[in-house]
Amino acid sequence: MSPNSRIRVLPPLLVNKIAAGEVVERPASVVKELLDNAIDAGANRIAVTIEDGGKQLIRITDDGCGMSPNDLELCVSPHATSKVIEERDLYAIASLGFRGEALASISSVSKLRVVSRPSGQDAAHEITVSGADRHKPQAAGGPVGTTVEVRDLFFNVPARRKFLRSKGTEVGHINEQISRAALAFPHITFELTNNGRKTLILPACERRVERIRKFYGPELAESLLVAERTERGITMEAYLAPPARSRATAQWQYTFVNARYIRDRFVQHAIKEAFRGLIEHSRHAIVFLFITLDPKMVDINVHPTKIEVRWAEPNLIHSQSLALMRETLQQADLAPALRTDRAARDPLSPDAQSRMREELATMLKATSPIQPNRGEGGGAQGTWHDSPSLPGRSAPSMDPMETWRALYGEPTRSRDETTPPSTAPTSAPMDRLAAEPHLASQPPRAVQMHNLYLVAETEDGIVIIDQHALHERVMYEQLKDKLTRGPLESQRLLLPEMIPVTSREMDLLTEKKALLDRLGIEVAPFAKDSMAVHAFPALLKDANIGGFLRDLIDYLTDAPDATPEVMIHKVLDMMACKAAVKAGDTLTQQEIETLISKRDLVEKSSNCPHGRPTTLRLTKADLNRQFKRT
Ligand code: ADP
Ligand code: MG
Repeated sequence: MSPNSRIRVLPPLLVNKIAAGEVVERPASVVKELLDNAIDAGANRIAVTIEDGGKQLIRITDDGCGMSPNDLELCVSPHATSKVIEERDLYAIASLGFRGEALASISSVSKLRVVSRPSGQDAAHEITVSGADRHKPQAAGGPVGTTVEVRDLFFNVPARRKFLRSKGTEVGHINEQISRAALAFPHITFELTNNGRKTLILPACERRVERIRKFYGPELAESLLVAERTERGITMEAYLAPPARSRATAQWQYTFVNARYIRDRFVQHAIKEAFRGLIEHSRHAIVFLFITLDPKMVDINVHPTKIEVRWAEPNLIHSQSLALMRETLQQADLAPALRTDRAARDPLSPDAQSRMREELATMLKATSPIQPNRGEGGGAQGTWHDSPSLPGRSAPSMDPMETWRALYGEPTRSRDETTPPSTAPTSAPMDRLAAEPHLASQPPRAVQMHNLYLVAETEDGIVIIDQHALHERVMYEQLKDKLTRGPLESQRLLLPEMIPVTSREMDLLTEKKALLDRLGIEVAPFAKDSMAVHAFPALLKDANIGGFLRDLIDYLTDAPDATPEVMIHKVLDMMACKAAVKAGDTLTQQEIETLISKRDLVEKSSNCPHGRPTTLRLTKADLNRQFKRT
C-alpha cells in the first residue's frame, strides 16, 4: 500500500457480507427475501422447509417463472436484478424486490444452492455458492420453478451465529414472515415443513379473512369489522377487531402497502386516533390494513429491509385511513364494548364469578362489623348458592350492596363502627389489601377522593396518592421479593380454562415453561389450537385468566429475545397491574390506611415499573407560601 493511498475498494465478498449485515439478521430474514423472490416470480404455490429453526436449512420451492442458466449465474451477483432496468423504475416499484442484493448477501454468509427451470424448458440447472466459492451452472433435475436452499447460515460469521436465539424463537419469526406473505397474497398456497413435520398448510383462498382465521383463530376472524374504500386513487381495505379485543402490544397491527408489509408511523397514528376513546390509552387495537396505490406515490427505497416507506402525501394516507376506520367503528354496534363498568372492562369467566361470589359471601360473614339477626332470617347461613333470597344464578348481581342485603338484610349502622357498610362489601380490594388491624384503630389520617386519589396528612405536609399507581407499585415490590424466595404461590383450577392459541403461540408457551412455572402458571397443550390453563397464581385468582394470558402471550411474542429477567419484570408488572385496586374502586378506611402504610416499600425501592408517579407531595412550607402565610 503506498503511503498516499489508504483507501481501498473492498473485494466483492466483503461488500456482500456488509450488505448481508443489514438485510440478513436471522433465518427469518432469509425466509422473507426468498418468499419475496418466489412471489415476484409469479408463484402459485410456495413450500418452505426449515430445519433447526432455519439455522441448518432453509429451503423454499416455488412454481414461478424460473431462471435460465444465464440468469442463474447472475442472480447471486450483487446488484443483479431483473426488476429494475433504469432509474425511473426505481420511483415506481411494482415488485417486492428491486435492490438485487438478497441472493448475493445470503450467498456470502451461508452455503447456497439454487435449482431452477424456466417455464417452457425441459431441463433444470443448479448453481452452488459458498462464501467466495462459486460454481458454474450445471444440469440438474427439477420441475418448472425455483428451489433455493440455504444451509449453515452464518457459518462464516460466528458473531451472528452466536446471536441467534433458540430454535423456537427463530421458528416464531419465520412463521411471522410467512403469515405476512400469506395475508398479502391469499391466492398463493403456502406450506411450512419444520423438522420434517408439516406445520402449516394454507391453501389458496378467495378472501383474505380466511387467512386471518387460519393464523389468528375463527373467533377473531368472525369479530372483524370489514371496510373497503377507494378515494383519490388510494384503495384501503381494513379489518378492525372491535375495541373490546384490544391487545397489550401493537404487534397485532398489520399494514401493507401494495402487498408489502410495512411499519409506518402515520398509519400507526391514524389507528390510535381512530380508536381513541374506545380503548384505554395503553392498549392497542387489532387492525389489518391493506393500502393499494400507484407505486409512484410511495418510496420503498428507504431502508435495506424495505419495511419503512416514504409517502408522497403522508397526510392523505393519514386522513383517509383515519376516516375509514373511524366511520367503520362508528357504524358498528359497539355498545357492549363501550360499557365502562368493571365487569365489562375485565369480564370474569362464569367459573371465576361463582368462586368470587362464594368468597365474597364467606368474607362478608367473617368481617362483618354488624351481626344481623341471622337465625331469624333463616336463609343466609350457607354459601351463595343455597341462599333462596339471592339473585338468580344465571344473572348474578355484582353490586356489593345487593349482595349485602341479600345475605344480611338492610344494614344497620352501629355506633362505634369505623367502616361504613356502603363500602364494606367490596370483595376484591379487601382481599388484595390485607388489612393490618393495628392501623384500623388509629384515627383516620387519610381520605379517598373521587374513588381515585388518597389524601393523607404527613409530618411536614400532605400527600396525594394515586391509589392504583401506588398499589400497583407495592404489589410489584412484594411480588419481586416473593420471587427471590421461590415460585409464586399457585392455585389449581377446578376446571382447566381453555384459551385459543395459534400454533406459534403454543410453541412459545411451551418454550417459556420455566418462566411460567416460576410465576405459578401451568398451561399445557389441549388441542391443535388451544391450551388448557391448569394452575394460576393465587394472587390473580379473581382476574380474567384468559385475558391475562392473552396479554402475556402478546408480550412474549413481542419480545421473544428478552432475557428472563426482563421478561419477569414485565410479567410482574402486568400481574401487579391486574391485582391492584383500580381507579374507581371504593376503598374502605382500613384499606386506605393499609395502602398508605405500605408506601415505604415503594419509596425505598429505586426500581420503578412504570415511571409514573404514585405520590404528589405538598409540604407545609409549600402551602404556607401559596397562602402567603410567610
Ligand atoms: P431482487 O429480488 O432485488 O431482484 P435478489 O438477489 O433477491 O434481488 O434476486 C436477484 C434476481 O434473481 C431477481 O431479480 C430474479 O430475477 C432472480 N430470482 C431470484 N429468485 C427467483 C425465483 N425464486 N424465481 C425466479 N427468479 C428469481
Ligand atoms: Mg429479492
